[in-house]
Amino acid sequence: MKMCISCGMPMTSLADYPLYNMTKNYCKLCARNDGSMQTFDERWANLTDTLIKVHQMDENIAKDTAYVLLKKLPAWR
Ligand SMILES: [Zn+2]
Repeated sequence: MKMCISCGMPMTSLADYPLYNMTKNYCKLCARNDGSMQTFDERWANLTDTLIKVHQMDENIAKDTAYVLLKKLPAWR
């Protein structure tokens, strides 16, 4: 099983891949609409947003947390 290099999500089904393309090593959440991978800054902004919405985090804490989480992943080390 592959793991997304950009966010760490396990990619278990075809629907997890960008544009159903299993040759990619990042997931659909980390892809742009055209299927290319988001930059670190794009992914960072998205994850910060998610943390604020899902966990009701303070914006500054969410930013720091998102940064730490992303920096552990192969795409951003
Ligand atoms: Zn991902």
